[in-house]
Amino acid sequence: MKIIISHDIDHLSFREHLSDLFILKYIVRAKIEWLAGKIGLSELYRRLIRIFSNKLQNLDELMDFDKAQSIPSTFFIGVNQGKGLNYPAPEAEKWIRRIMDNGFEIGVHGVNYENINEIRKEYERFIRYSGKKKAGTRMHYLRMDKHTCEHLSDCGYIYDSSLYEMKPPHFYGTLWEFPLHIMDSYIIEAGGYFQKRKLAEAREVTRQRISLAAENKVEYLTVVFHDIYYADTFITWKQWYEWLISYLKKEGFEFISYDNAVKELNTRL
Ligand SMILES: [Zn+2]
Repeated sequence: MKIIISHDIDHLSFREHLSDLFILKYIVRAKIEWLAGKIGLSELYRRLIRIFSNKLQNLDELMDFDKAQSIPSTFFIGVNQGKGLNYPAPEAEKWIRRIMDNGFEIGVHGVNYENINEIRKEYERFIRYSGKKKAGTRMHYLRMDKHTCEHLSDCGYIYDSSLYEMKPPHFYGTLWEFPLHIMDSYIIEAGGYFQKRKLAEAREVTRQRISLAAENKVEYLTVVFHDIYYADTFITWKQWYEWLISYLKKEGFEFISYDNAVKELNTRL
């Protein structure tokens, strides 16, 4: 079993959210998690004062960590706006270059999942910004309907990783679907909206999920960790990610990027 690590970029700044409820929800969430005893007073304080820094992303910090750990991670970035992903495409373009300059792979964090013309616009905009010949995607909020895979394949995507299920990759038209197996929020929030688990429990659930993947003969175990949680404003999340990388290394797993996994799979067609 090889490991594919990825990061979804949902937000860049607080300012993007001046006209929606994100900042209010962010404050309420921090208070609820503090009242429930899931985070301490200093973490609550850091979360609140961070609003004034206007910085939500932690991309440089996460790239530094992944680079130091030699993790060939893939960053999924949005080039369209919708469902709380508000940053403008020119900002995304700037980050696409920076992430690629740092030697990481990059794909589309897809917003539209229903309309093939809109899906194609996102694909072509990303190709233009990145200069890549081919691209893969993960849908924002894993939104899919029964035609999404077909649309993605028709637009030229070479892989998608949005289906949350414990299965190996399967070929769909011209596209490889890599089911998603481990998502930070499903582990730490346990299906709710707030932090439910502390680190020890999150680790245990994750170990069980990795064992289940091995039992299911999953060849490529896929993981998503959101960069907004790689900060001392979300201590459990950051510690969980760092623990996960060290655990997977200790267990002797090899890491691979989506693009290279696609190359491996294509040689078998
Ligand atoms: Zn997202």
